[in-house]
Amino acid sequence: MKVGVLALQGDVREHISSLIACGVDPIAVRRPAEIEAIDALVLPGGESTTIAQLSEVFGIYDQLKDRIARGMPVYGSCAGMILLANEILDAKQGQKSFGGLDITVRRNAFGRQVDSFETDIAFEDGSADLIRAVFIRAPWVEKVGTGVQVLASVDSHPVAVRSQTLLATSFHPEITGDYRIHRYFIEEVARPALEKVK
Ligand code: GLN
Repeated sequence: MKVGVLALQGDVREHISSLIACGVDPIAVRRPAEIEAIDALVLPGGESTTIAQLSEVFGIYDQLKDRIARGMPVYGSCAGMILLANEILDAKQGQKSFGGLDITVRRNAFGRQVDSFETDIAFEDGSADLIRAVFIRAPWVEKVGTGVQVLASVDSHPVAVRSQTLLATSFHPEITGDYRIHRYFIEEVARPALEKVK
């Protein structure tokens, strides 16, 4: 499985290390030919408006939108969650997402209370162990469409969701050294989706 990490802005290196720890050999991607060659993608945390704008500058916005719509498995953390959302609240004027995940997110939602915080949350992957979740000017999910499963919540706001091929978290597992979310993406989301296509 060829897994790319979108390397336009954000914490690309941390996602690459997390994926390596899960036994995959990830590559940083930003050019059309690189994106064409991957089977699955990670959208890092960072700044969603900047990543979307840079994807247009690099000529890959439509390509990414199209591959996501056609079922490429993608995991997005924080800004990456915003980029996967079909609808963004408190968006910057003209802000675009790639879409594909039938959720409505509110940008910087926790930010009105506290900018950044950490907490331990239950994650619905069958493990009883809590996950350390780091939130940095994070979005939360305000509405989920049919076919979207909530995997974790904070104060009843969903912060981890999945559809068949897409996984998104408001928090940043790539900076904690806990690889459960990345492993879940590879083994439970991407691998089954790619097996089906074969
Ligand atoms: N607030 C940022 C945005 O809107 C996301 C922050 C993050 O990825 N840590 O893109």
